[in-house]
Amino acid sequence: MEPADSIARLGFARWYERRLIEGHAWFVSCFLCMIAIAACMEELNLRGSLPRLAVYATLVLASAALAVYAAVRYHRILSEAERLGEHATCGNCGAYARFKLYSPTMARCRRCGNEWRLIN
Ligand SMILES: [Zn+2]
Repeated sequence: MEPADSIARLGFARWYERRLIEGHAWFVSCFLCMIAIAACMEELNLRGSLPRLAVYATLVLASAALAVYAAVRYHRILSEAERLGEHATCGNCGAYARFKLYSPTMARCRRCGNEWRLIN
C-alpha cells in the first residue's frame, strides 16, 4: 500500500527527497515537451510533403499528450509529498521526520513515543 510501504522501507526523509526528485523530473519532462512542440510548430507548414506534415503533427500531438501527463504527475507527486510533509512533525516534541510507521496509516515518534495519524 503506497506510500506507507515506501515510507516504512526508506524512512520519511528519504521518501520525501525521492518524491521531490521524481516530481521535478516530471516537470523537466513537461518543459522539454513544450520545447519540442515549439520546435515542431516552427517546422509545421503546408508547403512540404504530406508525410512530413503528418510526422510533425504526430510529434506535436504526442508531445502535448506527454506534457499534460507529466504536468498532472508533477502536481500529484508534489501534492502528496506536501500533504504528508505537513503531518511529519511530532505534535508532542516537534521532531520532524523522526517517526516509524507501525501500521499503514499511524506513525510513532522515535524520540518521545507520541502516536498520530500520518496518512488518511
Ligand atoms: Zn515526539
